Amino acid sequence: MNATTTPPAPGSLRAYGHYLDGRWTPAPEQGEGIERVAPGSGGRVAARFASGTADDIAAAVHAARRAFDTGPWPRMTGMDRGRVLLRLAALLRTHSEDFARLEAEEVGKPLQLARGDVAGCVEMFEYAAGLAMAARGDVHTNLGEDFTAWTVREPVGVVGMITPWNFPLLQVAQKLPFALGAGCTAVIKPSELTSSTTLELARLAEQAGVPAGVVNVVTGYGKDVGQPLAESGGIDQLSFTGSTTTGRAIITASAAHATRLSLELGGKAASVVFADADLEDALDGVLFGVYFNQGECCVSGARLLIEDGIADDFVARLVDRAGRIRVGDPFDDGTEVGPLISQDHVEKVLGYLSGEILGDARIAVGGSVLNDDAHGSGDYLAPTVVDGVHPDSRLFREEIFGPVLTVTRFRDFEEAMDLANAVEYGLANTVWTKDVDKAIRAARRLRSGRLWINTTIDGSVQLPAGGMGASGYGREMGQAGFDEFTELKSVQLRT
Ligand code: NAD
Repeated sequence: MNATTTPPAPGSLRAYGHYLDGRWTPAPEQGEGIERVAPGSGGRVAARFASGTADDIAAAVHAARRAFDTGPWPRMTGMDRGRVLLRLAALLRTHSEDFARLEAEEVGKPLQLARGDVAGCVEMFEYAAGLAMAARGDVHTNLGEDFTAWTVREPVGVVGMITPWNFPLLQVAQKLPFALGAGCTAVIKPSELTSSTTLELARLAEQAGVPAGVVNVVTGYGKDVGQPLAESGGIDQLSFTGSTTTGRAIITASAAHATRLSLELGGKAASVVFADADLEDALDGVLFGVYFNQGECCVSGARLLIEDGIADDFVARLVDRAGRIRVGDPFDDGTEVGPLISQDHVEKVLGYLSGEILGDARIAVGGSVLNDDAHGSGDYLAPTVVDGVHPDSRLFREEIFGPVLTVTRFRDFEEAMDLANAVEYGLANTVWTKDVDKAIRAARRLRSGRLWINTTIDGSVQLPAGGMGASGYGREMGQAGFDEFTELKSVQLRT
């Protein structure tokens, strides 16, 4: 790890060790560690991360434990912790362009989008600082005249955090400031594909005045470091964001110590468009909802449910617009959709678009890798619309996590609600209608942690987010996202 105070520029190869107990371990040399190729670059190595082991996790957990049990952080006032978080927010704002560029390079997302992600992260730290400053308990005086009781929220302790690659910094920022604000310490295991911004954030945390051992980052593969972290008896909580498959493995791995879990897992959101919607708005929203971040988004509106009477016309316009989306280099102005995260992921997405899985459904636009001169690296997938998708199809039920929209028609409100709820996931849904009664009835019927009406993927730090069903449990952001990292204790005093 170099000793500069600003993040390295994209395009230059960066190499990182782990950040343990306020110190950097040696960065891997060429041929060692995990080499991260920039998506869309045709093979250019952008970063090299240390490939951690269970021993690195043990060292990080030990440091975080000591910082929690004997260090100043949990003992500081909420005001003081809040001030440190505000300093961290200010540092992140100062370096926001550097962070956005690293994020765009490592994920392949359009730079414009990465800038928005980093701005959102700054808000997370600011908002969590306010919650840290305002944290309070309740007093109960109605238990009879001999009793006074109160409740307090105490920091849960050492929190393990495991995060995915699609919004690397944002996923950490939905956890870390809230946990720190509550007085916890942390061991973070970012995705092996996109670790740079998490490591750079640790460096900013140190500059902001977070004491050694409070934030630790161990990089590496899921089975090498994620699993030992989930199995560790030294953590008090594991906060995981990633696929439902890995979430299930984490439930098993953490069972021996009955570790408290919060799980932000996969999704398969519906965009329900009723005939009485503002169809121009709906068209913009459906397109944004599915192709945003290349469709590599847990709340992506991957299933269009469209009312019969307007379906043919709406789908024709959608297909026309999807065919004109600008797919290209994340750093080019005007790029709307970048390359997918890896060749493996391209293969996975393409697997849904042929043979048995496609079945009777019809690819109306896209469906293949772009291979002209501007997109020669093999990881640019054309925005795709698949029409006539049956609710029994794997296309309808499984998370594809790419720029693929499925279209299914419905006759009436009841059928629309049944179709939207017909998957095991329950992370998010969107409804388009001008009928307020219908919107309210839909908000009651739909089974998901988030619901957007006449807008979509509109994140706000004040609103809690999380899943139902196979999308997991626990909440991030909002007051609930702070409470998630606290234990609620009640104390009853007889006088
Ligand atoms: P993933 O489950 O493959 O990996 C997530 C993290 O878990 C990575 O850091 C990985 O190294 C680690 N990991 C892998 N195997 C592990 C194991 N056995 N034990 C412990 N850790 C392990 O997910 P991904 O491909 O990185 O990300 C995409 C998935 O994340 C999608 O399913 C998406 O819906 C989900 N996601 C959910 C949310 C949400 O808020 N619910 C947000 C973003 C992404």
